[in-house]
Amino acid sequence: MTDQDFRSFHPPQRHLLGPGPSDVSPRVLAALARPTVGHLDPAFIDMMDEVKLLLQYAFQTDNALTLPVSAPGSAGMETVFVNLLEPGDKVIVCQNGVFGGRMRENVVRSGATAIMVEDGWGQPIDLDKVESALSENADAKALAFVHAETSTGVRSDAESLAALAAKYGCLSIVDTVTSLGGIELRIDKWGCDAVYSGSQKCLSCVPGLSPVSFSERAAETIRQRRHPVQSWFLDTSLVMAYWGSGGQRAYHHTAPVNSLYALHEALLMLKDEGLEQAWQRHALNHAAFAAGVEALGLSFLVAPEYRLPQLNTVLFPEAVDDAGLRRILLREHNLEIGAGLGVLSGKAWRIGLMGHASNKSNVLLCLTALATTLHGMGLGTDAAAAVRAAESVYAA
Ligand SMILES: *Cc1c(COP(=O)(O)O)cnc(C)c1O
Repeated sequence: MTDQDFRSFHPPQRHLLGPGPSDVSPRVLAALARPTVGHLDPAFIDMMDEVKLLLQYAFQTDNALTLPVSAPGSAGMETVFVNLLEPGDKVIVCQNGVFGGRMRENVVRSGATAIMVEDGWGQPIDLDKVESALSENADAKALAFVHAETSTGVRSDAESLAALAAKYGCLSIVDTVTSLGGIELRIDKWGCDAVYSGSQKCLSCVPGLSPVSFSERAAETIRQRRHPVQSWFLDTSLVMAYWGSGGQRAYHHTAPVNSLYALHEALLMLKDEGLEQAWQRHALNHAAFAAGVEALGLSFLVAPEYRLPQLNTVLFPEAVDDAGLRRILLREHNLEIGAGLGVLSGKAWRIGLMGHASNKSNVLLCLTALATTLHGMGLGTDAAAAVRAAESVYAA
């Protein structure tokens, strides 16, 4: 019991340049506020069909088993592992940051064995090591890896990794949470079998939905299971009674109706812009931002050829008060950037330029805010030089 005087919550208007969520556009927020309808309303079912088609476009796939799981990216990850794996299976898991470790946890909790292939934080997955692991483990069922490691800002070669999995008769399981909509991803052309993503990174939708897609080979693996999927909620064979094609849709769980309006709108924005144009926009804003960062005398963790344009891992000198700086950015500039995770804590920032947030005004805002704050902390940083360096990339 409390006598506190409660009021409606009005969040501050931030610029979200962290590892997600990213800025949600007013168009998507407006979609969210439209009237709620029943989750079996024929009008809603028509919209669900469009969501599936738009997701197929975003993933570049014809996979029939493509849908948004009603929960965040971690639930998409779990959906893939619990549906494909059975007790006693063996999976080769690549780890070069935080999220490969979570894949391992999912494998183990599915009663399967994880064979780890590890690379350093800031390095892409080494194809030779993966090929050795595949040839030494002929009985492996799947190869699991992260396309875009959000903990380090590294892009791994998903196309070659999926091809290696196919060469050794394994399914490929691919985390595309941060890659979808931000960098090239073509799951049919590359032969990826089971992929999951998230709504709040480069799709710039509200958090809480996880698009997944399964190839026909993966769908057949699920149909051939000897044991029921241990998770009732994430069992795709049950979820498809609701998301499947045709008029007969049965209740499985109540879909997050308004969040799905938002996803529909975010995917429509991606389709209107064009997937390749969105990839190019992320690349251009990253190039401008990187020029500015270097003009500030700061450097990147990741070599240019493996860098994610949507997640910039910027190293800073030991003298910088990391938490203090991020507090000032939030308080004075309404700007959120991400802290370093794990071994990068206190050494690097993770600066996202994801989806709707990947634009020139955010690039210039972030460079200026970083430069003036570092200057105030006694580092001789020059905001004008950083802005000039970024502007020269846009002018080229
Ligand atoms: C954010 C993220 C996830 C988890 O997504 P949530 O929506 O936070 O559950 C998984 N993998 C990667 C690579 C991510 O960046």
